[in-house]
Amino acid sequence: MIGDAYGFVDPMFSTGVLMAMTSGELGAAAADAWLDDPARGRRLAARTNRELARSMERISWLIYRVNDPVMRSLFMAPRNTLWMRDGIINMLAGNLYGELRAIVPVLAFKTVYQVLSALHRMGLGPAMPEAMPAAPLGAAAAE
Ligand SMILES: Cc1cc2nc3c(=O)[nH]c(=O)nc-3n(C[C@H](O)[C@H](O)[C@H](O)COP(=O)(O)OP(=O)(O)OC[C@H]3O[C@@H](n4cnc5c(N)ncnc54)[C@H](O)[C@@H]3O)c2cc1C
Repeated sequence: MIGDAYGFVDPMFSTGVLMAMTSGELGAAAADAWLDDPARGRRLAARTNRELARSMERISWLIYRVNDPVMRSLFMAPRNTLWMRDGIINMLAGNLYGELRAIVPVLAFKTVYQVLSALHRMGLGPAMPEAMPAAPLGAAAAE
């Protein structure tokens, strides 16, 4: 299956259209090959399925952590060190292809996230915006 029929991601993440189009292309290539050579078509379809499963795992990693204070802090202070911002945007845009230049920035981001999470659990590391008291309403205007 392809697109939303394979897996529906919350539209909030804006992954759906590109994922559906890319998986449509992969699915069409598998179907085309199947007509000429069913064994090759079956192999291509299995590869497409694996690719879709992997991309769902990649985006799920982010979705399950999106409300985490450390994740939110990283999103509130985006930096493109090691192309991490580009890598996350690429993933959120629904790019299914697991190319090295797409995977390396995401791995770097995951590493930064894991290190900061460990520090956060130990009460160390940089202050997270959630840990700071919210400014009272009108405070900015009064200054
Ligand atoms: C409110 C909302 C906002 C969204 N915003 C975004 C966004 O900003 N960015 C983004 O990337 N994604 C967004 N998405 C997700 C995106 O729209 C979907 O992921 C994408 O359209 C999936 O494409 P698809 O081809 O798999 O399915 P669909 O676009 O649902 O196409 C399936 C088609 O099959 C037809 N169909 C169903 N059953 C049959 C049948 N038995 N016979 C013949 N035809 C049939 C349907 O009528 C439909 O036209 C949003 C989704 C929603 C609901």
